[in-house]
Amino acid sequence: MARYTRILLAVDLSDESSQLAERTVELARLNEAQLSLIHVVEPLSFAYGGDVPMDLSTIQEQLDEHARSKLDAYAKSLDYPVDKTFVVTGNTETEIHRVASNEQTDLIVVGSHGRHGLALLLGSTANGVLHGAPCDVLAVRVHTDKDNEPA
Ligand code: AMP
Repeated sequence: MARYTRILLAVDLSDESSQLAERTVELARLNEAQLSLIHVVEPLSFAYGGDVPMDLSTIQEQLDEHARSKLDAYAKSLDYPVDKTFVVTGNTETEIHRVASNEQTDLIVVGSHGRHGLALLLGSTANGVLHGAPCDVLAVRVHTDKDNEPA
C-alpha cells in the first residue's frame, strides 16, 4: 500500500488536542510523512454579523494572534518536525479542505467524539471534513470527561 506523504492535522487547540498528537505523530513517523498543522479561527462576523455596531477587526486580529502562538507552542510540543502551520479564518470544514487541496495533502487527521443523540444527528466537524474531502480522512477517537456520562 502506498504510504501517506503529506499529513494535515486539524487542531481545535482544546485540551483534547494532545490525544490527537500522539496518534498523528505515530502515523507520520511510520509513513515518513511531512506533517502540517491547521487551526481555523471562526470570524466574529459569523457570530455577530451586522448586529454589533463596532469594528471587530482589532479583536479578530487579537484572536488570530492568540491562536497563532498557541498553534506554534503545540507544534513545538510534538515529538516530530512540523513542516508548516496554518492559522486561517473562515468556515472550519471549507478552510481545511482548501488548505488540504493547496498543499496536496493525502491524509487529513481530525478528532472525533463518540457522540450520541442530537449531536450525532447534527453532525460534527469530523463529519463535515469527511464530506467533500479532497483526500483520505482519519477520525481519531478522542475521549472527554463526558464519555462517562449517561447518554
Ligand atoms: P468538534 O466536532 O468541533 O468537537 O471537533 C472535532 C475535531 O475537528 C477536532 O478534534 C479537530 O480535529 C477538528 N476541529 C474542530 N474545530 C477546529 C478548528 N477550529 N480548527 C481546526 N480543526 C478543528
